[in-house]
Amino acid sequence: MSKYWSDLVHRLTPYVPGEQPKLSGLVKLNTNENPYPPSPAVMEALQRELGDGLRLYPDPNSERLKASIADFFGLAPDQVFVGNGSDEVLAHAFQALLKHEHPILFPDITYSFYPVYCGLYGIDYRTVPLDEEMAIRVDDYRAPNGGIVLANPNAPTGRLLELEAIDRLLAANPESPVIIDEAYIDFGGESAAGLLAKHPNLLVIQTLSKSRSLAGLRVGYALGHPQLIEGLERVKGSFNSYPLDRLAAAGAVAALQDREYFEQTRHRVMATREWLREALQQRGFLVIPSSANFLFVRHPQRDAAQLAQFLRDRHIIVRHFRLPRIEQYLRITVGQDAECRALIDAIDQL
Ligand SMILES: *Cc1c(COP(=O)(O)O)cnc(C)c1O
Repeated sequence: MSKYWSDLVHRLTPYVPGEQPKLSGLVKLNTNENPYPPSPAVMEALQRELGDGLRLYPDPNSERLKASIADFFGLAPDQVFVGNGSDEVLAHAFQALLKHEHPILFPDITYSFYPVYCGLYGIDYRTVPLDEEMAIRVDDYRAPNGGIVLANPNAPTGRLLELEAIDRLLAANPESPVIIDEAYIDFGGESAAGLLAKHPNLLVIQTLSKSRSLAGLRVGYALGHPQLIEGLERVKGSFNSYPLDRLAAAGAVAALQDREYFEQTRHRVMATREWLREALQQRGFLVIPSSANFLFVRHPQRDAAQLAQFLRDRHIIVRHFRLPRIEQYLRITVGQDAECRALIDAIDQL
């Protein structure tokens, strides 16, 4: 605390990301990173970018990257916004689109950065409880609202909302911006990007951090009607002209172009997820159906915090949230096969 702080800073409660331990040799299953390296094409693109060019500012509009993303989704470049990780894209979207007369709505259990952005930008919000199966019921979002934010698949549950339900939600809320955060969509869902032509109130946000193994490069993007995108560009142009550096833009383009590697790695993660789900269920865990690169699980007889500590003592790190409704759950990232095997071996020592 300091007397030099603004009132706003006194009131902020920042987001706390999962731990990035400095120790090596850990089985790190706590922050949903991809267990496979980025495409070799990304490494080559980064190498090519190293040189005298780093003297110069990057393209402030990241036009080449926007063109690659537009091409991947069959959209026009003016339907694409890019930012320094999807966290930054989300932050700009909250500021640009979500402050209106009514509170915005999001689930009681979801990505815990959403209430943090509301605190930063002075946005009123109301949480809508997930049902007993930890599923989003879109009919519960029929209240007057200044916008709706859903993670799909949701985090930390991993549950997927069907496209048909999102379509219904969009049609029922034509006056509200609806943000679908698709950080995990490539692990088993279908993107709402296909609904963009029908719904000018839809903003889809994705990231290269999870399914493209590029959490360290910080690249995220939004897809939407050109007028929504222009709103985001106005905030970005008032904040930082160069959110994506030359390396990030070059690496991102290469990652998007290597579709074969993308298909291979995401299918490997999905196959390991199903193996891990079965292994955990055989050991008495209750596992929420997941379409993401993690499983949200609990054991009816074992305390989640103690279980997390037991695993940590064996150098396996998973995520435990001390939050209402989910304090008996663990979120386990799908690792490589050997890492998941090590987790199961540790559980068998219980
Ligand atoms: C990981 C994650 C993000 C942030 O991704 P970055 O692009 O790395 O900032 C956003 N939303 C959800 C739900 C996530 O899990």
